[in-house]
Parts: sequence; structure tokens; C-alpha cells
Amino acid sequence: MSTLEIKDLQVSVETEDGPKEILKGVTLTIKAGETHAIMGPNGSGKSTTAYSIAGHPKYTITGGTVTLDGEDVLAMSVDERARAGMFLAMQYPVEVPGVSMANFLRTAKTALDGEAPKLRTWVKDVNGALEQMNLDPQFSSRSVNEGFSGGEKKRAEIAQLDLLDPKIAILDEIDSGLDIDALKVVSDGINRFSAREDKGLLLITHYTRILRYVKPDVVHVFVDGRVAESGGPELAEELEANGYEKYTAVSR
Ligand code: ADP
Ligand code: MG
Ligand code: MG
Repeated sequence: MSTLEIKDLQVSVETEDGPKEILKGVTLTIKAGETHAIMGPNGSGKSTTAYSIAGHPKYTITGGTVTLDGEDVLAMSVDERARAGMFLAMQYPVEVPGVSMANFLRTAKTALDGEAPKLRTWVKDVNGALEQMNLDPQFSSRSVNEGFSGGEKKRAEIAQLDLLDPKIAILDEIDSGLDIDALKVVSDGINRFSAREDKGLLLITHYTRILRYVKPDVVHVFVDGRVAESGGPELAEELEANGYEKYTAVSR
């Protein structure tokens, strides 16, 4: 059973005026079987947390640790992080012109498993994953995310989650730009993953809407690069009713 442990994580980015501190000590632990939601106002450092765990070169870790089952995630290459069992869906999925979804996914799966998946079962698996996300099988021959609508990108991310089968998934604003039907399809996909006892999920979201469909065990409120409060699902309901005002008023 996996545990992702983030301890006192401090992160800065390089700006024209020098380094800017964004994360000021983030601490949270996600265990297999748990769903955690990070919520918070724009600019509070939610995406920075996801990018830092993913190993994006733009973010400099200035303090703290991130471990997966005791292994130092921050010392791993981006590939090693994926092989260790981490999956990250970013707020703005990248387009990869000239690389088909099918090839992209097969390469990723091969890198994860150390051997290529058997072609016949793989094609079936890919088509099945696309179909579950209400995506036409022809998406597998299209370039990754190129010309996909916002909703199609997010649905393709969940198809990818399904196929790559990580231990820990971090989904950054997977709900943004989804209409209600797509939100349901995406939520169903997330719930299939998070229902499994051996999977941990970190769901990052600005809005409470998706939490009507995906029920978190723990909710963390991010404010100004820190966890301002953690609690149960009732915390999301409180945020839905009252917004972030209470927290931002305190932090200014
Ligand atoms: P959130 O996802 O919670 O909306 P972000 O993590 O995207 O917040 O951003 C947190 C803060 O860090 C914001 O003030 C943002 O402007 C700043 N920031 C993030 N990336 C950069 C960057 N590359 N250069 C300068 N500032 C950045
Ligand atoms: Mg669960
Ligand atoms: Mg963000």
C-alpha cells in the first residue's frame, strides 16, 4: 500500500525580479485508499504543488521533502516518478503534434512496465478506455490533445489514468471547462480509480462542483502557499456556502 508524504515543502520560481517564494511549507500525507481534495483561491499555489511533485524544471525546491513509500521523489527524474507509480494530469494538458494517442500511450505503458504491452490486448484496452470516457475510438489515431476541446482533453487524461494504472494520481483542475455531462463522465472515471483500496488520489480544484460527484475523505484549504485548514468533506460544503473570504481576509 502506497503513501505519498509531502513535508514542509517550500518552492520558489525564478522571476525577472529574482526568485519568488510560492510554497511556504506544505505538509500533507495521502495513503492508498484515500481521496484528498486541495481547494483554494487562484494563485494560492495549488498548481505549483502539482508541478513540483511532477518535477517541472521551472520550480525550485528550497526546502522540505516529498516521498513515495519512503523513496525520495524529489531526487527522481520525471520518468522515474512515473515508474514509481505517480500520475499527474495538469491543468493545461500539453498538445503533442505528430504523436498519436495510441503511440504515446503505448510508449508510456512500455516505459512503466519495462516491456511493450501485447498489441492485440492493448488496442482493445485503449479502445475500452476511450469508450468509457465517451471518446470515439478514432481518438487513438489523433495527435495527443491536438485540436481536442477542453472537455476532450480532460476526458483523454482520465482514459490515460485508467490505462497507466498508477498508485497515486494527482489531478489538477480536471473539472475546469467541463459541461455537466462531461463532468459526470470524468467523475465516474475518477471514482472507478479511487474506489480501489490500493490507489491514492489528490484532486486539486478551485470549485466545489466536482466534489458533488467525487467524495473526498480529506479536504485541504490552500491559502498563500500553505495549508490553512484541513478537515473532512464538510469543509467543502462550508466552502461552497461561504467561499474563501474567511481565509483570504486573514492572510492579507
Ligand atoms: P493556483 O494553481 O492555486 O491558482 P499557482 O500555483 O498556479 O496557483 O500560482 C501560485 C502563485 O505563483 C501565483 O501568484 C502565480 O502568479 C505564481 N507563479 C506560478 N508560476 C510562476 C512563474 N513561472 N513565474 C512567476 N510566478 C509564478
Ligand atoms: Mg478510495
Ligand atoms: Mg492552478
